[in-house]
Amino acid sequence: MLALILASILISPPEEPPNIVFIMSDDHAWQAISAYGSDRNVTPNIDRIAQGGITFDRYYVENSICAPSRAAILTGVFSQHHGVPTNREVFDGTQETFPALAQASGYQTALVGKWHLKSEPVGFDHYERLVGQGNYYGPRMIRNGSEVLHEGYTTDVITDLALEWLQTGRDESRPFVLMVQHKAPHREWMPGPDHLHDMEGIDLPEPATLFDDHSGRGRASTMQEMTIKDHLRPMDLKLTMPEWMMRMTPEERAAWDKAYEPRNEAFRALELTGDDLIRWKYQRYAKDYLRCIASVDDSVGRILDSLESLGIDENTIVIYTSDQGWYLGEHGWYDKRWMYEESFRTPFLLRWPGVVAPGRRTELLSQNIDLAPTFLEIMGAEIPARTQGRSLLPILESVDDAQVEDIGWRDALYYRYYESLGPHKVPKHEGVRTRRYKLMVFPELDEVELYDLKLDPDELHSLADDPGSAVVRARLEDLLVELRAKYDVSEDW
Ligand code: CA
Repeated sequence: MLALILASILISPPEEPPNIVFIMSDDHAWQAISAYGSDRNVTPNIDRIAQGGITFDRYYVENSICAPSRAAILTGVFSQHHGVPTNREVFDGTQETFPALAQASGYQTALVGKWHLKSEPVGFDHYERLVGQGNYYGPRMIRNGSEVLHEGYTTDVITDLALEWLQTGRDESRPFVLMVQHKAPHREWMPGPDHLHDMEGIDLPEPATLFDDHSGRGRASTMQEMTIKDHLRPMDLKLTMPEWMMRMTPEERAAWDKAYEPRNEAFRALELTGDDLIRWKYQRYAKDYLRCIASVDDSVGRILDSLESLGIDENTIVIYTSDQGWYLGEHGWYDKRWMYEESFRTPFLLRWPGVVAPGRRTELLSQNIDLAPTFLEIMGAEIPARTQGRSLLPILESVDDAQVEDIGWRDALYYRYYESLGPHKVPKHEGVRTRRYKLMVFPELDEVELYDLKLDPDELHSLADDPGSAVVRARLEDLLVELRAKYDVSEDW
């Protein structure tokens, strides 16, 4: 009772509808955010969101790949229902999305940065999107239907465009949703001018599973082509750079060559082989990836500062997330796609002054399909009947997880990856995750994997054929059928 009274004192509804600034990067591993305990980098500005707001420790995607995840965020439904189960389909922009519904309810809506859904953005008063994946330097963009060619580093260009809209582009009499979507740190991990020399001369810690031999599980994880050992290309490692990637000004090019030419010369002199070569590739890859994130973190800082200087920070919700998680060397990998924790679990942090308790963390299970209903409920807009996610507002308004558990919260998540044997040769799979266990089913292999995440957080030993785990396996198999039915997902692939 006391907790309830306390909560009602702490949480008073805002007088004006809040603005929402949604910052999303592409392929940002939670292992590379200091608020999530990274041992390899520091992200002081993303951490400002954590300090002032809530960090979701168990936020997951429904399908760990770029376009499907973006469509799930916009619509609040699973891949089968938003129509983008892989990166190949064209997103139907006429379906109900949270930006379009926000716009219909009187919000101004704007998007800058990566879109990646093959159709033009719908439901935005203003947009400027990257063409396709976008370049790291000199990005080509489409502004409200017309092409614009920019000079500069793309993360900085996107930030500049976002600030320009905040400062001079919006109608100050109305609330807004601004989506700032970075290309970074997507492959091929090209750092910006401000961070070309970060981490020079130091060795990053290696993940404990860098040399994972993939025994103790089924065949699935042995079939992939996403290893640091064999599948990074020379351009991923900056050993050769095609001209299309180098849309730089002469100054940017000179700074780039000054950073990489001596490094590459030193590498050639070493003539590494075996594990030493894998270690070198890991360091090269991970440092470039983290340098890209340093610019993303700068972007978050500039946006937070700008909201303060405009005097609108108190009534603006700021979110930082990624379209899915990522392997920063864990299991010997880069890339995403799997339901294993590194790519399934995804960073999600949210600051909302006056509503969300500063420094709050939650372990309640949440998923990217929850974002659309959350934003719509906050905005007082209509939540479509087909929505499959659940508004996170009770979590945002609570002081701890127990308070939310009292009203009931989900105890399992459903996942499905469709892009069978496409790039990186990850077989299609589906599964369920509870707080403790994970069941993964690989239909093409006729194999099941089962993990006890409490005892085996790195998912190295499948218990699928362990007689002592038969009851747990049967329970999770039933749950899989139940969730598939609940979310109206076909049994057939
Ligand atoms: Ca992505």
